[in-house]
Amino acid sequence: MSKATQTFRPGLERIAAYRAGKPAPAGPDGRSVKLSSNENPYSPLPSVVAHLTTVLPEAISRYPSIAAEELTGALARRFDVSPENIALGSGSVEVAGQLIHAMTAPGDEVMFAWRSFEAYPILVRVAGAVPVEVPLDADARHDLPAMAAAITERTSLIFVCNPNNPTGTVVTEAELDAFMAQVPSHVLVVVDEAYVHFDRSADSPSGIEFFRRYPNIAVLHTFSKAYGLAGLRVGYAIAPEEVAEALRKVAIPFAVTRLAQEAAVASLAAEDELQLRIDEMVAERTRLTAALEAQGLTVIPSEANFVWLPLGEATADAGAAFERHGISVRAFAGEGVRVSIGDPAENDAVVAAVVAEGIGASVAA
Ligand SMILES: *Cc1c(COP(=O)(O)O)cnc(C)c1O
Repeated sequence: MSKATQTFRPGLERIAAYRAGKPAPAGPDGRSVKLSSNENPYSPLPSVVAHLTTVLPEAISRYPSIAAEELTGALARRFDVSPENIALGSGSVEVAGQLIHAMTAPGDEVMFAWRSFEAYPILVRVAGAVPVEVPLDADARHDLPAMAAAITERTSLIFVCNPNNPTGTVVTEAELDAFMAQVPSHVLVVVDEAYVHFDRSADSPSGIEFFRRYPNIAVLHTFSKAYGLAGLRVGYAIAPEEVAEALRKVAIPFAVTRLAQEAAVASLAAEDELQLRIDEMVAERTRLTAALEAQGLTVIPSEANFVWLPLGEATADAGAAFERHGISVRAFAGEGVRVSIGDPAENDAVVAAVVAEGIGASVAA
């Protein structure tokens, strides 16, 4: 094949593509366990699947409603906000991209903690803005004072991922209040609450309350994690009206399919049933954390549907060892391993792999 002769956008070669979690090759027992994407281990709710079946033919052949009136209305009632405050996207990762496109000029700075959600630096660079990564503190938490100190005249957007992916840590309400007092009102702070349903800490801020309290807060939510709709792609921002309007301008037309809209509405109607599953995942998080600690591993207390093992130099070996046992996890070389909470049998498999491979033994020693 000949080399491409087309000209590409300058700088594009320095942007890495998003790296998605992969299934592992089957392990010794012939099973492959995917715990690398923070997906929901449950099958979709039967009521949601049954509803989708009834709209399937039309949902396939017709364009969806761009305004998504029904879903927007349901969300507005659910959070007691105006429909004008809501902007939808094909997953909240698309909405995060909309926020960057709508709020930044080329060369503007977009700040976030690091390590945090891997999509942030990619989305920022693709939009022509400049990522500013502020290291997490020694407890793998957002260092909000350092982030406040890093604000410059070029800062236009700040992401606060709460709970943080991949460390599972949270900021407190008092910390976020103190931070907001230092953020100029023309800078928009985005509280990314992809994992908020799993947060059981007593002093966590509610993104929606902060949205009501400050004029420069947007909240990002997704149906992918707690509600198990990762494959259908639907997320949203709750934002000041002018911001939400700007997001709708830069959104990809028809990106939120009819099936995604219908599944989201049906899920909101089934929140009690979904809550039982969320409670079980939280209980499994407690159980897995204790079992891993019993094996001598350090586990960062998590408020999300995954746990973070800060294995440092032992990370790459640990990732390979999990893979030998048919378990895919997210390994960040030199830093740590993120393990999603699976069903009880999958979580047992994680502990069995740790025991069999002596994962973390050198760290504990
Ligand atoms: C998974 C995730 C999202 C978005 O997921 P979508 O499937 O695009 O809705 C957003 N933020 C964080 C921090 C995540 O981990």
